[in-house]
Amino acid sequence: MITNQDIAKIVEKYDQKKIAIGTLGSHSSLNIFKGAKEEGFRTVCICKEKDAIMYKKYPLVDELIIVKDFTELLNEQIQEKLRKLNVVLIPHGSFTAYLSTEELTDSLFVPMFGNRQLLKWEANRKSQEDWLRQAGLRLPATFKTPEDIDRLVIAKLPGAKGGRGYFLAISPKAFHKKFKELVQRGLLKEEDLASIHLQEYALGVNVYPSYFSSIVKDDVELLAMDRRYESAVDSIGKIPAAEQLEIEVNPTYTVVGNFPIVLRESLLPEMMRMGDNVHKKAKELAPPGIIGPFCLETVITDDLKIFTFEISARIVAGTNVGIGTSPYAYLKYGENMYMGKRIAMEIKEARTQGKLLDILA
Ligand code: AMP
Ligand code: AMP
Repeated sequence: MITNQDIAKIVEKYDQKKIAIGTLGSHSSLNIFKGAKEEGFRTVCICKEKDAIMYKKYPLVDELIIVKDFTELLNEQIQEKLRKLNVVLIPHGSFTAYLSTEELTDSLFVPMFGNRQLLKWEANRKSQEDWLRQAGLRLPATFKTPEDIDRLVIAKLPGAKGGRGYFLAISPKAFHKKFKELVQRGLLKEEDLASIHLQEYALGVNVYPSYFSSIVKDDVELLAMDRRYESAVDSIGKIPAAEQLEIEVNPTYTVVGNFPIVLRESLLPEMMRMGDNVHKKAKELAPPGIIGPFCLETVITDDLKIFTFEISARIVAGTNVGIGTSPYAYLKYGENMYMGKRIAMEIKEARTQGKLLDILA
């Protein structure tokens, strides 16, 4: 486990006037780089050859490091290069998608804007649930075994990408029938049964509020809100029920894009309390709590109950809908504020106040 002392030693050698903001070339990198440039930072992008076109068309990157595979971020030569460039890494979804939690906590000796300790809480479904429940959030009920199913549940496989292999079931009998079918079709394996997570299906609409936890200002700001455009689930309704049955359609949830949304205003106070409480609990679990962006994945039902089924303790790509401005960022900061810029602003303020070590891990 890389400690705060390890990071402090690295930051000590940094030329603080020349700090650069770096990240993997994917997910929310344009958002992050635009914000960094607007706040006067140099930018460094670790990128695959095939994606370099993005940074030619949108020239936001000062230093492009081409890799074959994102795991090369762990190579000593690349880490050394990043440290020489005084890089602060901004973690996003591609970090956790292409690198393991252990690699991020044990092998990446480059300062990150975020709390490495929290990665462990986030990565494990059970500990993540404990964190959110202890923060007072409402979570969908979970069921220990299929025999306990007494309502509509969503069966989730650990590490399932885009909900592939997720399925819905209304009773123990329906569960076993579906499970058998999916095994026969080669989508699941018999041994998956033991690791399936059974969660109450909250029937409602998805809302993803994004917050920014400022250590410098000791405040949690509600900055953005989005919902996802998911294939195939968002298109199933386009075909009639008869054909749905014939093709034995099973919803998958591969993210293709995001929509901005504004929430019914009477729901905002609860959303704000939820953000505050999640950070407060994180402070107890792993001080100083969440550093920077985080997002709650929620479903809101028709009786206006907010169910949270996941947290991302980092920038989510849904904040890309707010590049430039968004209603919630506008309410707090006026024009031209968005997550990438808010991150850069925090790093700048921490540097001015001599508090860089408080926000890096
Ligand atoms: P990528 O680098 O595009 O492969 O994405 C890395 C991870 O972030 C994957 O787990 C994606 O599902 C997730 N992701 C990428 N883009 C979005 C998006 N626009 N909204 C939500 N999640 C996303
Ligand atoms: P995940 O892979 O956990 O992000 O879930 C994929 C999709 O499944 C989400 O975008 C939601 O639309 C849906 N989902 C996950 N958990 C629940 C739940 N408990 N109730 C209703 N929908 C859910």
